[in-house]
Amino acid sequence: MKKVAILGSTGSIGLQALSVISSNPRRVKAAVLTCKSRVDVLRSQIKRFRPEAVVVERRQDALELRREYRDLKVYYGPEGLEEAAGAVDYDVLLNALVGIAGLRPTLAAIKRGGVTIALANKETLVTGGRIVMGAASEADVPIVPVDSEHSAIFQCLVGNLDNPIRRILLTASGGPFRGYDRARLEAVTLSDALIHPVWRMGRKITIDSATLINKGFEVIEAKWLFDVDASSIEVAIHPQGIVHSLVEFEDGALLAQLGDSDMRVPISYAFSWPDRWAIDSRSVDIIAMRSLYFEEPVGEARRSLDMAYRVVREIEESEGDSSAVVLNSADEELVELFLAGKIPFVAILDTMSEVLDKHIPRKIESIEDIMDIDLEARAAVRERWR
Ligand code: NDP
Ligand code: MG
Repeated sequence: MKKVAILGSTGSIGLQALSVISSNPRRVKAAVLTCKSRVDVLRSQIKRFRPEAVVVERRQDALELRREYRDLKVYYGPEGLEEAAGAVDYDVLLNALVGIAGLRPTLAAIKRGGVTIALANKETLVTGGRIVMGAASEADVPIVPVDSEHSAIFQCLVGNLDNPIRRILLTASGGPFRGYDRARLEAVTLSDALIHPVWRMGRKITIDSATLINKGFEVIEAKWLFDVDASSIEVAIHPQGIVHSLVEFEDGALLAQLGDSDMRVPISYAFSWPDRWAIDSRSVDIIAMRSLYFEEPVGEARRSLDMAYRVVREIEESEGDSSAVVLNSADEELVELFLAGKIPFVAILDTMSEVLDKHIPRKIESIEDIMDIDLEARAAVRERWR
């Protein structure tokens, strides 16, 4: 029986992870569940899944839960996430938090050791890639990606770990505004941006998919996970969402992982790895599909990617890792403003690009450095939209 700690169990990935657990009750059990503010959803999860520990955001909620459930360990606040990740007994930590809030809990799990990290929280690697991968390798803690593209690549690399990679091809749906020019993007609304053509996800990543900065983040994520230079990572628009990504080896062989767009597949794989478990996923009818197609990202679709590639170039040319944090944290702040109806859609990338242009890259030595840059980037965004 594997014990899983699910950080962010009330979110989109968290709920799908619990559905995977429900499909395999004899193989996997929830040991830790956490939420930020959706405490009522967490309460129903406590009743159904009987975890050993939970984490909530507010102290008040924690005190109430302690009164309600005498045997339950209840932690609270950002430190609570780290405490639970460091102390409770589990085999796999699924980090399904959103944003840079996921960074320290990932490190706490690595420090604890003897666990596997199933990583959905890509912000962990965008902001702290070098430190996190270094710590994981030193502690011999495997990081199994949950992001569908990276899970696809990870699956293609099984049995190929010693074979050099020639190229990684990340696929992208293109989001709801595929093919839009600047004038059309200026007119889009919040509700337009919240409709993703392929995936149902949390609000932050849905907006990131509409600006395509999500794919930029995934380039950075792939760089760290698979230890490749950005010059070997390409992005292909694939609106059908069936080919989840591809790897090319030195002999020209291209391996891909295909399947329905169902996040329970990469979540289940991260739990079961190196095995596979049965889940009630849909089989893809390739005959009915007739063809699969791919496009080059051009025009507005290149804007986010260009920013991400620029950031990675700075890292690879040893100018510093800090711009990746700026990209992440400016985006977190801008998406929040957009979701609150305070800025137009096009302001997200416009402001991000301005903030990035003003930032002078520097070396990151510690998590504290990352948190300082995070605050600077957020302040720069707020200064612009005061
Ligand atoms: P959601 O917004 O749906 O869920 C986020 C979860 O984290 C919720 O449980 C939320 O609690 C909790 N949470 C949010 N902020 C904090 C915080 N500051 N401190 C503590 N807990 C917090 O996000 P998703 O599930 O969509 O995404 C999670 C991660 O997975 C992201 O990094 C995303 O990029 C990545 N990902 C998601 C995919 C998807 O299909 N959804 C696909 C690929 C990657 P509460 O419910 O109380 O707000
Ligand atoms: Mg993805």
